[in-house]
Amino acid sequence: MGIVDSLNAGWTQLLDLLSKVIIPDWTSVVGLLPILIVLGVVGPIFTILMLFWLWYFVTKPRRGVVQLAEGPYPAPIGSDGYPIFPPGEPYCYHDALVYPPGATRCETCGRELLVRCPKCGLGRAAEIDTCGNCGLVLRIEKRAGGKALRPVAGPPPGGAAVA
Ligand SMILES: [Zn+2]
Ligand SMILES: [Zn+2]
Repeated sequence: MGIVDSLNAGWTQLLDLLSKVIIPDWTSVVGLLPILIVLGVVGPIFTILMLFWLWYFVTKPRRGVVQLAEGPYPAPIGSDGYPIFPPGEPYCYHDALVYPPGATRCETCGRELLVRCPKCGLGRAAEIDTCGNCGLVLRIEKRAGGKALRPVAGPPPGGAAVA
């Protein structure tokens, strides 16, 4: 037994060990394939879903604010500390709430709503649609049931085309 022989033996052992590490055991890799597919396919989908979910919840509050505008909303406070009521919109002076057009009574305190004339600025009850000061008529129409007069598209009934 010389030194070369023992070195060769060690070298062979090392190569044997390396071959086991480098060449994978294919049966175990095939067994892992479903997990790899799940991680490679479901993982990105799940990430995208999470991003959509996040995006949905980030953008959702804005829609809520838009919906709030349909109901009564607190009147903005001016620099003098008093609430500012936009002209032509019903409001409750007691609760400082501004109501959508068509409302006549406060949902919070039950008081009659007031409205300020957009033309002369005089306040009156929201039930009255004509200004007692300047005569301006505020048309209170509900958007849902209102019969809007639309211009008829196409030729007028009498103007038939020349045959
Ligand atoms: Zn009120
Ligand atoms: Zn007026």
